[in-house]
Amino acid sequence: MNCYDCHAHSSTVTTAVALCTRCGAALCTDHVQTRPELVHRVRGMGLATLPHPARRITCTLCCKAEAGE
Ligand SMILES: [Zn+2]
Ligand SMILES: [Zn+2]
Repeated sequence: MNCYDCHAHSSTVTTAVALCTRCGAALCTDHVQTRPELVHRVRGMGLATLPHPARRITCTLCCKAEAGE
């Protein structure tokens, strides 16, 4: 699979290394955005945040949208 952003912006073909978890676009190393995401779990009456963050992979567009920029 090839990078969607490379194709959309410059019509170049770059091998993708990951998929955006939000929109499903395939992404190359230049366009992939990774950040830690805290994992929550319901425990008893409350909500617990687990000690180790998970990984969230998104494209540049979805990363900006989620950040509210
Ligand atoms: Zn790309
Ligand atoms: Zn996306």
